[in-house]
Amino acid sequence: SSWWRSVEPAAKDPILGVTEAFLADPTPTKVNVGVGAYRDDNGKPVVLECVREAERRIAGNKNMEYLPMGGSLKMIEETVKLAYGEDSDLIKDKRIAAVQALSGTGACRLFADFQKRFCPDSQVYIPVPTWSNHHNIWRDAHVPQRTYHYYHPESRGLDFSALMDDIKNAPNGSLFLLHACAHNPTGVDPTEEQWREISYQFKVKGHLAFFDMAYQGFASGDTERDAKSIRIFLEDGHLIGCAQSYAKNMGLYGQRVGCLSVVCEDEKQAIAVKSQLQQLARPMYSNPPVHGALIVSTILDDPDLKKLWLKEVKGMADRIIGMRTALRENLEKLGSPLSWEHITKQIGMFCFSGMTPEQVDRLTSEFHIYLTRNGRISMAGITTGNVGYLANAIHEVTK
Ligand code: PMP
Repeated sequence: SSWWRSVEPAAKDPILGVTEAFLADPTPTKVNVGVGAYRDDNGKPVVLECVREAERRIAGNKNMEYLPMGGSLKMIEETVKLAYGEDSDLIKDKRIAAVQALSGTGACRLFADFQKRFCPDSQVYIPVPTWSNHHNIWRDAHVPQRTYHYYHPESRGLDFSALMDDIKNAPNGSLFLLHACAHNPTGVDPTEEQWREISYQFKVKGHLAFFDMAYQGFASGDTERDAKSIRIFLEDGHLIGCAQSYAKNMGLYGQRVGCLSVVCEDEKQAIAVKSQLQQLARPMYSNPPVHGALIVSTILDDPDLKKLWLKEVKGMADRIIGMRTALRENLEKLGSPLSWEHITKQIGMFCFSGMTPEQVDRLTSEFHIYLTRNGRISMAGITTGNVGYLANAIHEVTK
């Protein structure tokens, strides 16, 4: 009876807590730019047309049997092509160990557990700042964390020289977590040239890159372009790891469908690694869920549906990019003397606005606008209907 007496309530998740507060607010003009989920220009969640069509094709047609331990082979095959390229030699040579994962989070966690099991003395280098759950994931996998410089608050851009110094100063053979594109929460990505320098330095130091790619296609609107960082590392012959998610780019948030892949030296090693990844999953959830994987494989296996998907991803990215321009223009029209160039320079789901926690608190208490206290604005929550209201509120609290 005294078993749970010492249990205190857990700290609220900084991101999910924002949504709770938003839902509890009865004000009709309230705005949620907290959570990173895509909304259409009416602020409504979106189910992609390609997903609806895939569901129609699936409906009533499939049994409910377990997937293999590593998940849907078809889904994995198509997913790996997206990250590594249609014509990747690594795929031809069967050098990629890949398993279906519980979306991007599950892919990161499975990798962290794998890292702990097979490199028990290793650490992970995490950018400052990062998606807050990265810290939780590697903490619960008992992997010690180090951080590396990433964001430069003054320029609201990349602190490239400090980043390079941290890469150089880390012990040889360190493991780094990199955001493949659309860095969360900053919206700041290295340029192609900078990625080349990073990859080169990783080579010199013998570091391992683990790419978290939660936004492929969502940044530029082009899945190939958003995979550029990974492709540069592959050109340089790195053995990378990669977490992929269909939450954002297919709008499959609640379906929890993703993929973890690890590049190996040869096919034999890939078979071994894959079997160990499955072994890690077995006592946790045995095998991954079937429905989301079926949606994904149905879309990617059909050239017409895939084309429709790529068009719809671009549509989402373009709407967000359009809202960046609109927010910046509105702020400038209001006569804000501050520079808002970073709104349009940053990319992906988020804008790291540079607002202080106190300014964010005022946005919430005076204007019923909800976002995390680090000043991160989810661009996907902005619409033609609320961008003026939001710009005005930002102007009021920053002047
Ligand atoms: N990595 C990053 C950087 C993210 O922003 C997210 C989503 N917020 C994820 C991983 C994982 O999301 P999911 O588990 O829903 O795929």
